[in-house]
Amino acid sequence: MDKKNSAGSHSIPGDQPRLEETLDPDDWSGLRALSHQTVDDAVDYLRDVRIRPVWQSMPADVKALFEQPLPRSASPVEGIYHALVENLLPYPLGNVHPRFWAWFMGASNFTGALGDFLAAVQGSNLGGGNHAAALMDQQVVNWCKEMIGFPVSASGTLVSGGSMANLIGLNVARNIKAGIDVREHGVAAMTRPLRFYGSEQIHSCHRKAMEALGMGNRALRRIPTDAELRIDLTALRAAIAEDRAAGFQPACVIATAGTVNTGAIDDLTALADLATEERLWLHVDGCIGALIAIAPENAYRVAGIERADSIALDPHKWLHAPFEVGCALVRDAAAHRGAFAVTPEYLKATPRGMAAAPWLFDYGLQNSRGFRALKVWMALKEHGVEKFGRLIDQNIAQGHYLTDLIEAEPRLELVVPTNINIVCFRYRPKGVEEDALKALNLEIMLRLQEAGIAALSDTTVHGVHCLRVAICNHRTRREDLDLLVQEIVQLGHQILSTSRGATGP
Ligand SMILES: *Cc1c(COP(=O)(O)O)cnc(C)c1O
Repeated sequence: MDKKNSAGSHSIPGDQPRLEETLDPDDWSGLRALSHQTVDDAVDYLRDVRIRPVWQSMPADVKALFEQPLPRSASPVEGIYHALVENLLPYPLGNVHPRFWAWFMGASNFTGALGDFLAAVQGSNLGGGNHAAALMDQQVVNWCKEMIGFPVSASGTLVSGGSMANLIGLNVARNIKAGIDVREHGVAAMTRPLRFYGSEQIHSCHRKAMEALGMGNRALRRIPTDAELRIDLTALRAAIAEDRAAGFQPACVIATAGTVNTGAIDDLTALADLATEERLWLHVDGCIGALIAIAPENAYRVAGIERADSIALDPHKWLHAPFEVGCALVRDAAAHRGAFAVTPEYLKATPRGMAAAPWLFDYGLQNSRGFRALKVWMALKEHGVEKFGRLIDQNIAQGHYLTDLIEAEPRLELVVPTNINIVCFRYRPKGVEEDALKALNLEIMLRLQEAGIAALSDTTVHGVHCLRVAICNHRTRREDLDLLVQEIVQLGHQILSTSRGATGP
């Protein structure tokens, strides 16, 4: 074996010293040129996003790139970059496009992308420590508190997204309400099993959280909703009473501020009152709607959110931060730290130097943490929070604009009254049977995707299948919504006439 290349071998006297390697380039100027090219291409990519398809399917030769085996040896980075320009960049899911309205995602922004780049260049680990990035991380958490009207004394942490932010909040709730030291003894030691409550419109991440927290899916009771898909307070009270009588420990109500299906916002003030009366923890899943608090025309919709015990919000949605960044806030900072800290309080950081600061990993599940704050910080500094608030108002106004277009078009039917920026509707021309509508609307949705015109998703609300447009996008214009309605009507007509032609007598 060649000694020089065998791992773990050391040079012994008399041998040639082992050649030391690094990942840095020999030629920084070549890397500089490629970096400039990358930035130029990236600017063009975003500038021209509107003229590209929202989405397109990948040909076989593109997919083949992602089946190549583990590279064993080096290849020039220029070639790698060009392969990505050809095979990766043209095939996104599409959420940076002005006509992407599927599920609920932010549309990213270039300044945020620069933030991610600089964060990676500095290479900071936000597990904690006495450095500038750690101060910025805490500053962004403080800004999140301020945006939703939480007290400065509250605590918080940046996490990967809304699912993790919800998990953090529910974890604290479980520990506080367990009645025992659940960290030490586990859920099995509880004499009265905990019960959590949310509406039947609750996001699926809460089920995962209940499972991960050892309480199980059934410990999360789904409460029916009213006509506007908000949690039914009478049914909630009845469920709590029933559980108490049956020997369970009602512990936490999860309010949704903006459901993913329809954008329904539970009555947060009423739920805060109910939680106080019933001595329950109030967690607000504000992944969609918490940030409506910064939108002047619509902030009233989330009044009461500041009364929560914990809140999950999602800067990679309505602040358009590049993925990933979510934020968990907890009113009682000691309860938050108490749920996760593994550094005893007495183990003070050093009086000076790199460790003279709190450990940020004491507020969540991660040890090493990415520098997520920078992309949020830069975009907030650049535009100011007021602009983000106006953009949220703009998206909600666009949701209502689309609703008006749908109501003015006899072949379209609104399925749920629009609350915020999520519009649920279907193509329903006269003479088409109810049974045939789902397949017809799915076909329209798929053709819109495949033609790269618009990205929609679909859902079922109170038993009715529908198309769903969620406008969380700072690039969308009203003309894009005009086009959507035209295209849907045209595609629907086309699908019906070819199928009638094929099956007709
Ligand atoms: C998006 C969303 C989540 C999950 O957030 P991620 O950032 O995707 O993990 C949770 N709840 C609601 C209401 C959401 O819209």
